[in-house]
Amino acid sequence: MQIDADLDGGNILVVNARRRGVAELALRDDSAAPMRQWFHFLVRAPRHERLELRIVNAGSSTFPDGWPDYRALASYDLDNWFRVPTELERGSLVIHCRPEREELYLGYFGAYPSARHEALLERADRSDRAEVVSMGESVEGRSLDLVVVGNDGPGKRRVWIIARQHPGETMSEWFVEGALSRLLDEDDPVARALLGEAVFYIVPNMNPDGSALGNFRTNAAGRDINREWLSPRPGTSPEVLAVRRMLEETDVDFFLDVHGDETAPCSFAIGCEGNPSYSHRLARLEKLFTESMADSDEGFSAEYGYGPDDPGKGDLSIANNWVGERFECLSLTLELPFKDGGDPQGGTPDRAVELGSSAMECVLESLGDLR
Ligand SMILES: [Zn+2]
Repeated sequence: MQIDADLDGGNILVVNARRRGVAELALRDDSAAPMRQWFHFLVRAPRHERLELRIVNAGSSTFPDGWPDYRALASYDLDNWFRVPTELERGSLVIHCRPEREELYLGYFGAYPSARHEALLERADRSDRAEVVSMGESVEGRSLDLVVVGNDGPGKRRVWIIARQHPGETMSEWFVEGALSRLLDEDDPVARALLGEAVFYIVPNMNPDGSALGNFRTNAAGRDINREWLSPRPGTSPEVLAVRRMLEETDVDFFLDVHGDETAPCSFAIGCEGNPSYSHRLARLEKLFTESMADSDEGFSAEYGYGPDDPGKGDLSIANNWVGERFECLSLTLELPFKDGGDPQGGTPDRAVELGSSAMECVLESLGDLR
C-alpha cells in the first residue's frame, strides 16, 4: 500500500506501512502552529484489498473529543464522498476500507482543493449576475477572492457570507458552493427575489494558504485568523485586513461566517449576545433566522450551542462578534458538524451543499426585518 499526502490540502505522516494492508499514520501539525486534527491523503492499493489505516496520534490531537462516533470520509474522484467504518482504539483512530478502485482519497471531511475553488470562481465569472474581485493577498501571496452577486443600489441589503477562516473546515466552502449555485441559477425564483432586494458579497475561502498547506486551523503565519478581527496586522493576518477594508467599503446588513464543529451532532448558529451593543432587535433577528433554518433542515438545531456569552463579555476578536458590534447588524457564526450524527449517509459534502442552498430561503425570509 502507498500513502500519498503530497496533495493540495494534503496532511498525513507515514509512520510505518510495511505490513500488508496496514498503515500506521500520524496527523501532522499546521505549518506554523502546534495544532493538528485535519487529514487528507490518497491511498494506492490492489483493488478489494482490506485496508486498515491507523492514525496513531489521534488521541493527542487539538480536539480529541471529536473522535468518538466519528467516521472518516472517502472518495474515488474528490466529487462524491462517503463515510467509511472508523473506530477509536486506545488513542488511535482506525479507518477500515476495501476500495473498489486502486486509488482512494480519505479526509477528515471532503477536501475542497484549489482546483475546485478556481472552478467555482469561473462559474461565477461566466454569469451575468456576478463578478469576481481580488481583495488582496494572503501571507504567502495567494489571492483573497470575493464573489459579488447582484447589484448594489438604493434600499438594497448587503449580505456577507465568509468561509474557511479555519481551512480544515472544508464544509464551509461546500456550503458556499450550494449558496452560490442557487444565487447564480437564473430559473430559481428564490434567487430572483433575493437579488431584487439584496446584493451578496461572498468569500469562499478566507485562508487560501492554510487550505493549500493542509492546515487545520491557522494561516501561513500560524495565526487563527478568527481571533484577529480586533487588530489584524499586515504581516500576520492580511486576510482579515483585506476583508475588513471591503466590509467598511460596502457596509453590511447580514453577516454569516461558516465553520465546522468537531464534536456537535448537528448544525447550529452562534450569535452576538455577549457584545456591548447587543439589543432586543438583534436577539429577535437571530431567533427568526435560526428558527427558519431549523424548520427548513432537519440537521439544523436552533437550541444547540456552546452556551451564551455573558453580557458584555463577547470576544470581539472573533469575526461575527466584531462585525455585529461594528455594524449593529445580524451577525452569526454558522457551525456544520464533522460527525454524521449517527447517520452513515449524513454529514457529507452533499449535505453541506444542500444546507447552503436551503439557507438562501431563510435569508430571503429575514431580509425585510434586517433594518
Ligand atoms: Zn472554525
